[in-house]
Amino acid sequence: MLAEIISIGDELTSGQRLDTNCQWLSERLGELGIRTLFHTTVGDDLAANVAVFRAAIDRADVVVATGGLGPTADDLTREALAAAAGLDLVEDAAALDHIQRLFARRKRPMPERNRLQALFPRGSYMVPNPEGTAPGIDLAVPRAGRLPCRVFALPGVPAEMFSMWHATVAPALAAAMPSPRVIRHRRIKCFGVGESDLEAMLPDMIRRQREPLVGITVHGATITLRITASGANEQACFAAMEPTIAEIRSLLGVLVFGEEDDELEHAVARLLVERGESLAIAEWATEGLANHWLAEASANSVQHYLGGVVLHDPATACKLLEIDLSPALAASKETAKAFARAIRRKTGATFGLGIAAFPTAQTDAVPTAAACSSLNTSGSLHVALASGDNEAAVRAKSFPIASHPAITKTRSAKQALNMLRLAMLNNT
Ligand code: AMP
Ligand code: MG
Repeated sequence: MLAEIISIGDELTSGQRLDTNCQWLSERLGELGIRTLFHTTVGDDLAANVAVFRAAIDRADVVVATGGLGPTADDLTREALAAAAGLDLVEDAAALDHIQRLFARRKRPMPERNRLQALFPRGSYMVPNPEGTAPGIDLAVPRAGRLPCRVFALPGVPAEMFSMWHATVAPALAAAMPSPRVIRHRRIKCFGVGESDLEAMLPDMIRRQREPLVGITVHGATITLRITASGANEQACFAAMEPTIAEIRSLLGVLVFGEEDDELEHAVARLLVERGESLAIAEWATEGLANHWLAEASANSVQHYLGGVVLHDPATACKLLEIDLSPALAASKETAKAFARAIRRKTGATFGLGIAAFPTAQTDAVPTAAACSSLNTSGSLHVALASGDNEAAVRAKSFPIASHPAITKTRSAKQALNMLRLAMLNNT
C-alpha cells in the first residue's frame, strides 16, 4: 500500500509555518507498514486543491490530507475533495449536532458559517474530532479496475489531528490492511570518511531493491546508514535487520561510532566512563562546539569531562592557558599542541584536547573564527591530543579544511573528538 500526504494552507506554501504534520503522519503510516511515496503541499486555492486530490487519488492507495477544514472562506478541503471525487456535498446531521453542542458548551452562539463544517461528500464518513469544531472526512473513492483509494481529510491543528489519527484513522487503516505488516528502521552512525568512500566499502548494499533496504545520508560530516525492514511484527523486522547490521559493522570497523541518536560526543563520553578517564578541551575557531557537546553528553558524569576554554583572541589565550603563542605559530600543529598540553596541565585531566582550525592565513594577523565564515575558505585544521607531559605523549594531526564554511566548524570539532575516540579504542 502506498500513501500520499497532502498538507494544505497558504501559511505552509508561503514559508511562514513549517509543515510538521507530514513528517509525523509519514512516521505513523510507516509504523502501519504503509510506505509514503509523495508529500504534497498546496496553498488555499480551489482549483489547485482539486488537481492535487485528483492526482493523489490516482497514484496512491491511501491519502491523508491535513488543513483547510475550518469554517472560513479559505478553507476549501471539503469542496475540493468532493469535486475531485465527482460527489456533491450533503449536510450530516450528526456532524451538525456535534458542532452545535460544542458552541453550546462554550456558551457562544454558533456562527452560520460553521454550518459548512457539517457538509460532507456524499457517501463519506465522519472522523470525530473531540477537541475542535472541524470533524474529519473518511471517503473511499472508487477507481476503475482497481481497489478504491481511501482518503482521510483531517484538521491542520496538530493536537486535533494527532488524537483523531490515534482514535479513528490508524485503527481503520490497520483493519483495511490485507495482511498486517509493520516497517521498522535502525540507524548506524559513522564518521571518518566521505559518503562515497563509505558507500564503496559496502559493495552492493545501497541498492533500491534490497531487503532490508540500506540508505545513506550525511549531515555535518556524520554519515548515517538507515536500515529499513518490513515484517509481520516488530521482532521480525529487527531480526531481519540483524545480519545486515553485523555485516556493516564488520566491513566498517571503527568508522562506526554508534547507533540511533548517538553523536560522536556520546561515543567519547562512554569510552571515558568505561576507562575511568577524563577530558578537558581548549578550542579556537570551533566556537565552543566541542566543549558544548561534551558538556551535554556528560551531564551525568561530571568527573569524566572536566570542562575547557573557548578561545578567541591570542592575548587572552596566552593569559588563560599561560602559554606563549606567537602570531607566526597561530595556524599550526604547535598551537594545537600548546592548547592540549596547557588545558591538560591546568585541569589535571587524563586527556587534553587542543583544536586550532584556521583558514590559510593571508595576513600576519592571527586568523579568528570570524575569518572562517567568509566563503570559500580553505586551510588546515590542527588537532592535538595530550595524554602526558612529555613530547611523546602529545600527538597532533592536521586535516585540510575543504568543506563549505557552514559545516567547517562542526566538522573540525568532530575531527577532534574522533581523534580522541580512536586513540582510546586503539589504546594508544
Ligand atoms: P487549518 O486546519 O487549515 O485551519 O489549520 C489550522 C492551523 O493548524 C494552522 O494555522 C497552522 O497553525 C496549523 N497547521 C496546519 N497545517 C499544518 C501542518 N501541515 N503542519 C503544522 N501545522 C499545521
Ligand atoms: Mg488553513
